[in-house]
Amino acid sequence: MNCQNCNTIIENGYALCTACELRFAGTLLRLARDVTPLHDSLDATLHPGGHAPVRIQTATPPTPIRLDVLDLLDMLDATARELWRCLDVIDALDWHKDPRMEDLEATLIDCAGHPRLATFADAGFYMATINGIARKIDLTLDPPEQRREIGTCELCATMLTAGAADQWVTCPVCGREQRAQTVKLRRLETLCWDDSRRGSAAEIAKAFTDAGIPVRRGTLNVWVNRGKLPSSPQGLAYCDVYRLVIGGAA
Ligand SMILES: [Zn+2]
Ligand SMILES: [Zn+2]
Repeated sequence: MNCQNCNTIIENGYALCTACELRFAGTLLRLARDVTPLHDSLDATLHPGGHAPVRIQTATPPTPIRLDVLDLLDMLDATARELWRCLDVIDALDWHKDPRMEDLEATLIDCAGHPRLATFADAGFYMATINGIARKIDLTLDPPEQRREIGTCELCATMLTAGAADQWVTCPVCGREQRAQTVKLRRLETLCWDDSRRGSAAEIAKAFTDAGIPVRRGTLNVWVNRGKLPSSPQGLAYCDVYRLVIGGAA
C-alpha cells in the first residue's frame, strides 16, 4: 500500500507514512495556535497583527468584521469537527454530545494526538484539506510583502511585479518565466537608450543598483562636480550615466 499523501510504499497498511503523519499532526498543532490570532484579526478596525505581536490602528475600513477571516474560521471549524468525528468514529447524530467539540483549539490538538491519525481511511484527503486551509490562514496572518513593478515581460510587455527576494517572475498573462534581474536590467536599458530620460542622482543610482549594477548617488555627484557628467535643470541623463558606468570612462 502507498501513503495517500506522498505515495511512499508503506508495509503496515496505514493510510499515511510516518513522515506524513508527523507533518499532518504538526499542521494541526500549528492551526490550533492560529485560532487566537485569527479571532483577533476578525476586528477589521485593527491592523491584523498576524503572528506579529504589535498591532497598529488603521483607518476605518468599510466593514467592521473581516469576512475573509470569518470564512476561514468557519472552514477550519467545520473541517476540524468533521475530522474529529472520523477519527473518533462518533455517530453523526450524536457528536454534539462530545464535550471536546466545544472548543476549536482543543479539537485541533485532540486530532493531532489521535492514535488513528495515520490509519483512518480518509487520512490523505483530510491532510490535503487541512494543508489548503493552513496555506490560506498563513496568507491572512502574514500577508506577502509588498511587491513592486520591476519591468515588462519580454514576450507580451505586461508589467511584472516581484518581491525584493524573488529570483524569478512568471508573467501572469503569457506564463513566461523570466529572471527578475534580467527584467530589471532590460528596464534600465530602455531608460538608457532613450536620450530624453532624466532623473535625479538618487533616482538614477537606485535604478542602476536595482538592476544589479551598483552605483552610488555620491559617485554621480562627484562626476557632475568634476564635469564628467552633464547636469541640466531636468536632472541627469540616464544615457550619460550608462556610458560612464558601462563604458568604464569613469
Ligand atoms: Zn507520506
Ligand atoms: Zn508575458
